[in-house]
Amino acid sequence: MTGIYVHIPFCAQRCTYCDFYFVTTEKSHAPFIEALCTEIRLRAATYATKDPVGTIYFGGGTPSLLHPDDLGRIIETLNEHFDCSDVQETTLEVNPEDITPEYLAAVRALGIDRLSVGIQSFFEPDLRFMNRIHDAKQARDVVGSVRAGGFDNFSIDLIFGLPDQPPEYWSANLEIAASLDVPHISTYGLTIEDGTPLKNRLDRGLFEPSSEEDMSDQFQFTMAYLRDRGFEHYEISSFARPGHRAVHNHRYWSHHNYLGFGPSAHSFWWSGLPASRWANVRNLRRYEALLMQHVAPVDETERLALDSLADEYVMLRLRTADGLDIEELESRYGVDLLIDRVDELADLESSGFIRPIRNHTIQLTDLGKTVCDTVTARLLPG
Ligand code: SF4
Repeated sequence: MTGIYVHIPFCAQRCTYCDFYFVTTEKSHAPFIEALCTEIRLRAATYATKDPVGTIYFGGGTPSLLHPDDLGRIIETLNEHFDCSDVQETTLEVNPEDITPEYLAAVRALGIDRLSVGIQSFFEPDLRFMNRIHDAKQARDVVGSVRAGGFDNFSIDLIFGLPDQPPEYWSANLEIAASLDVPHISTYGLTIEDGTPLKNRLDRGLFEPSSEEDMSDQFQFTMAYLRDRGFEHYEISSFARPGHRAVHNHRYWSHHNYLGFGPSAHSFWWSGLPASRWANVRNLRRYEALLMQHVAPVDETERLALDSLADEYVMLRLRTADGLDIEELESRYGVDLLIDRVDELADLESSGFIRPIRNHTIQLTDLGKTVCDTVTARLLPG
């Protein structure tokens, strides 16, 4: 089944750490909605008949800035042009300040059945450091509002590793999330990306980033804390109560096909070799202009041969609790890690980074998860 990602490129203001594509100055959403629906129709001509749609994900940007009528028009266009008769999950990213009972009722009526709430922290100094619009009270109240609005399936995002954050804030963030009984938490270590206001402040010496050791300690604490409270740590950044794993994200980690619509959205399609990955233009005006001419708004296309796909499979699967299936790697990608990386595997196991191989599966230990990229680099077949 195909996953559909829709990128909504609008935000009310810029968070200091963010390097996603968005604009903060757009007065009217109408030209974008028009362009997006054109892109959906354009892509449907090639891909709609190949696979039914399994999941839909509205990300951004801030999708909750869209009026429900606009979201409805996008969903209607998807329904008209793709087989959406068996969609398992439709997720909407929302920001706490946009949530009202009326908004939740309207988006539920559209068939949206999962929310991803950008809380980031329950503490005011953290929120101000990140330049989030919402305040600590809104962060705490939103979980109750989401439930009262009939959403039992939702996730919250929390960010750790903020400079100068008192250590007790992070543990308190997790404690509050657990006490609110949220079904899914995504935790991200703060990364300082080029071109962001945060990087600019770092370059001007205005703060000291958290040390790698502190980040690692906080991550290890997070894993133990949430697991003790009944969460499954099913992917490096993702913790779910049983039955609440994200279905859409699972497609990314399993090399399933997905189509991305909207500026900067990525797509992946593998029906024969080479597979294709393409990225849309990262500019709203250009995106709209290309679609006015019925031209696919693609910036870059990458053709992926089997060896690149094998590398990706290793990278993606090591992030998951299900782990890297050595037999699948051999049958689907033609790589035998037990021959190609036998010494590395023995060394990683004796150093405590991976578990002993069981059921032909390689899984990271908690220690391995703190250095996932390093372990991955040692096992890449390419
Ligand atoms: S973090 Fe989210 S709300 Fe903040 S600027 Fe980025 S996309 Fe917009």
